Amino acid sequence: MATEPPGERAEATRFTSPANEPVCSLCGGTGWRRAGDADSVWYRRCECVKARIIAARLQTIPALFRGATFESYLARNQKQEQAATLMKSRPEGSWYLTGPYGSGKTHLLYAQYHEMAVAGRTRCHVRTTRELVEELKKMEMGSGTVSPVMAAARECTPYHLFWDDMDKIKPTDFKTEVLFELVDTLYRQKHGLTATANHSLQDLVRHERMHPAIVRRLDDMCRVIQI
Ligand SMILES: [Zn+2]
Repeated sequence: MATEPPGERAEATRFTSPANEPVCSLCGGTGWRRAGDADSVWYRRCECVKARIIAARLQTIPALFRGATFESYLARNQKQEQAATLMKSRPEGSWYLTGPYGSGKTHLLYAQYHEMAVAGRTRCHVRTTRELVEELKKMEMGSGTVSPVMAAARECTPYHLFWDDMDKIKPTDFKTEVLFELVDTLYRQKHGLTATANHSLQDLVRHERMHPAIVRRLDDMCRVIQI
């Protein structure tokens, strides 16, 4: 089974109707619609293109979380209920979701990803720490691959990174360096970041030896939600 990280296929989405799909009746499968009047004519992207991008983004959600929305989140206490309400009220907010295993942090992360994917205004990726480090490592090794996350972070186009299991990391100098560069770039470009972790921000430094400079940036960017 393909283990492509969420967000990848969306970026490779084609603008014309794929061969296995019925041809769009609005644009005839070209992805462009004629607009204007007798004096001037121009072309605009067909609605089917946006629909295809959204479908591809939703398709990249792992099967376990495909139904994860704010509506399907079952809050078991008031804290969890407030967390879902708060996040839903600011679908483009940056959050640091912390709480014990099984409190539904990842469900909430994918619920926000889902909202953002459907809204279609912001580019987004989901990564675990392991995936992030592997991706950044490949880039740093000079293999010619560009990390899609780092590339999006460097652009000014609105971007949101969803970082699951942030504290599942055994820090090394290398990891600290590449992760700080990423978080700092997100911060400077005013991009969004939603992260989940079992530890509080303080404990990230104390128990997980996460570099304080990274944690300071997280603290600047994200509103902490304890669930
Ligand atoms: Zn169309």
